[in-house]
Amino acid sequence: MSNIRSKDTTPEERVRKYLFSQGFRYRKNDKRYPGHPDIVLPKYKTAIFVNGCFWHMHGCKEFVLPKSNLDYWLPKLQRNKVRDEENNAKLKEMGWNVIVLWECEVKDINFFQKLEKTISSVSIR
Ligand SMILES: [Zn+2]
Repeated sequence: MSNIRSKDTTPEERVRKYLFSQGFRYRKNDKRYPGHPDIVLPKYKTAIFVNGCFWHMHGCKEFVLPKSNLDYWLPKLQRNKVRDEENNAKLKEMGWNVIVLWECEVKDINFFQKLEKTISSVSIR
């Protein structure tokens, strides 16, 4: 466990390392696609977003609205969420699969097993 949980490793990097170790080849932050997905698997037409729970208003324990400047934060965060939905819809229209992963999930030790299942279900098609 101590090997996996490195403080310098961002959730995106954890996912990328895992995918690479499983033989997936990906592109990072590809600007050609709506929302600039964190990870693009061209072979599987799959875009993966690794969302921070705060910035993308995840309905989990990690998301806590700031106590001050709510007039500033709430519209800003809500805009992020709307933009996420728009980008996902655009990608799907382009025939892409969209996988949204959350920072809090990526921290979970069992997470990569679940991810493997998600990706194999997508790539079979
Ligand atoms: Zn979360």
